[in-house]
Amino acid sequence: MTYQKFYEFGISDAVLGSLSDMGFEEPTPIQKIAIPPALEGRDIVGQAQTGTGKTAAFGIPIIEKGKRGKTPYAFVLVPTRELAVQVAQELNKIGQNKGVLSVPIYGGQSIERQIWSLKKGVDVVVGTPGRVIDHIQRKTLVLKGIKTVVLDEADEMLNMGFIEDIEKILKEIPEERQTMLFSATMPAEIRKIATKYMRDAKNVRVNTADMVVLKIKQVFYEVREEDKIKALTRVLDVEAPSLTLVFCHTKREVDDVSGKLQKMGYYAGAIHGDFTQSHRDEIMGKFKRGDIDILVATDVAARGLDIPDVSHVINYSIPQDPDGYIHRIGRTGRAGKSGIALTFVTPREYRQLRLIERTAKTRIDKARLPTKDEVRRARQEEIVAEIEDVIAERKHTEYLPLAEDLFSKYSQQDIAAAALSMVLGDDEVDDIEERAVAQPTYRSGFVRLFMTIGRKDKIKVGDILKSISAEADIPAKKIGNIALFDTFSFVEVPAELADKVISAINDMVMHGRRVRVQHAKERATKK
Ligand code: ADP
Ligand code: MG
Repeated sequence: MTYQKFYEFGISDAVLGSLSDMGFEEPTPIQKIAIPPALEGRDIVGQAQTGTGKTAAFGIPIIEKGKRGKTPYAFVLVPTRELAVQVAQELNKIGQNKGVLSVPIYGGQSIERQIWSLKKGVDVVVGTPGRVIDHIQRKTLVLKGIKTVVLDEADEMLNMGFIEDIEKILKEIPEERQTMLFSATMPAEIRKIATKYMRDAKNVRVNTADMVVLKIKQVFYEVREEDKIKALTRVLDVEAPSLTLVFCHTKREVDDVSGKLQKMGYYAGAIHGDFTQSHRDEIMGKFKRGDIDILVATDVAARGLDIPDVSHVINYSIPQDPDGYIHRIGRTGRAGKSGIALTFVTPREYRQLRLIERTAKTRIDKARLPTKDEVRRARQEEIVAEIEDVIAERKHTEYLPLAEDLFSKYSQQDIAAAALSMVLGDDEVDDIEERAVAQPTYRSGFVRLFMTIGRKDKIKVGDILKSISAEADIPAKKIGNIALFDTFSFVEVPAELADKVISAINDMVMHGRRVRVQHAKERATKK
C-alpha cells in the first residue's frame, strides 16, 4: 500500500511542520513510493522526471533520521553548484524545526570559508564532486560519520564525466551506510554504479513516458531554419502562453533568440552557462515573479533548476536525444495541470523526431503553424482586451476632453478605427514558406548500424565515413546516410556489407575512444 499523506509516513511533528510551512500538501508520486523504504534505511534507486520532487524524496528521510551535531551524518553529491545551493536550501527548510544544518560545498566558492563552516559543525553536506575530493584530500571533510549517501541527478553527473570521481568519493565513505541514487533517466553506467555500491536496493520509479502522454499535449511544426524566429512569434502571438520556456541548442542561439524577441517587444529573458550566478538568479527571479514571461535557455542551464511550472515548452531546436526531450517537456504539465510542448523540426531533423517519439513512447502530432490571418486576429483580440482593461480601470479619463473635441468633427467609428490603425500599425505578418518535410526514404537494400561515438567526441560525419571506408575497405560512396547525435550515431550501409563493417569497426579506437558497432535495433522512422 502507498501512503497518501505526509503524516502517514509516521514522521515527526517537527518535519511535518516544516513541510506544511513549505506549502507541501501531499507527497508527490515519487515521494510516496521512495520515502517509506528510505525511512527503513534501505538503499534506494529512484527514477522520476525532473520537477517531481526527488529532493524531498531523499531529504525528508535524511532530516527525519538526523539531528544537530558536530560531524556530518549525511552526504549528498550533486552535479552542479546551482543544484548544491538549491538542494541545501530545500534540506534546510525541511530541517528548520529540528535545527539540522545543511551546507553546500562547491567549486568557485572560497575554500577557506567552506573549511571554516565545516569546522563549526555541519550535519548534511551537499557537494559537487571536484570540490568534495579537494576537501577529502585536505582532510577538511570528515566522512567517517556518514550514515546516508545520496547521488542526486546521477545521469547528469554521468554526462558531465564525474563517474570516476563518484567512485573515488564512495570509497571514502564507511561501507555500513544507506545509499540512495536519484536520476531522471537510468543509463547502463548508472545501473552499474548502483549494482556495485548498493546493497539490495529498492527500485522505485515513476514512469516518465506514461506521465508525459497523459498530461502534455505534444505537437511539432515543420519549419525551415531561417523561418524559426517568425514561426516562434506567430506561435507566441496566437497561443498567448502565460509562461513559456524556449529551449535552444547553443548559448549563441539563446542570445540570438532572446535578443530578437526583446527587440520585437516580447518580455523575454535568457539563461545559459556564460552568465554569472547572480545574473542567472536575477533572471530566474524575474521569471518566477512574471516580470518576464518567456525564458530562453540551454538544456544545461535549465536542467535541475527549480523553474516554476510553465504553460508551454517550446523546443526551438530539437532536443539531442529522447531523454533530453522528456527532461525538457517535463517542465510543463506538473501537478496534474495540462501543459503544451511544441517542437520545431527542420526537414533534416524529421528522423530525429521520430526516434524521440519511438524511444520516449510518446506521440507528437504534426500541427500547422498559425496562419497570417490567425496572427492578425490574435493581435487584434489582444488590443481589444487591452482597451477593455483601460476602460474598466478608468485609465483613459485624461483623454476624454480630447475625444470630445474629435467627436465634433468625426464619427465614433472613424476615430476609434484611426486610433486602432495607429496602434496595430500596418499589421504586417511576415511570410513563412510553407514546405512539407520530405518523408525519409531508405535506400532499398540498406541497413542501419548503431555506433557508440558522437558529436561529443568531436567526431564529424566525414571522419566516420573515412574510417569505415578505410577499415572495412569499401568505397565511401557505397556508404549511406550518417546521422550524428551527441553520444552515438547511425550509419546506413548496404545489407551485404554490414557484417564486414561491424567486424572491421567494432572495438576500433576513434578519436581516442573505443567504439562499439552493432545493428540498430529498429528503424526509428519506419512505423
Ligand atoms: P526534481 O529533483 O525531481 O527535479 P525538485 O526536488 O527540485 O524536483 O522539486 C521541484 C519543486 O517541487 C520544488 O520547488 C519543490 O520544493 C517542490 N515540491 C517537492 N515536493 C513537493 C510536494 N510534495 N508538494 C509541493 N511541492 C513540492
Ligand atoms: Mg533534483
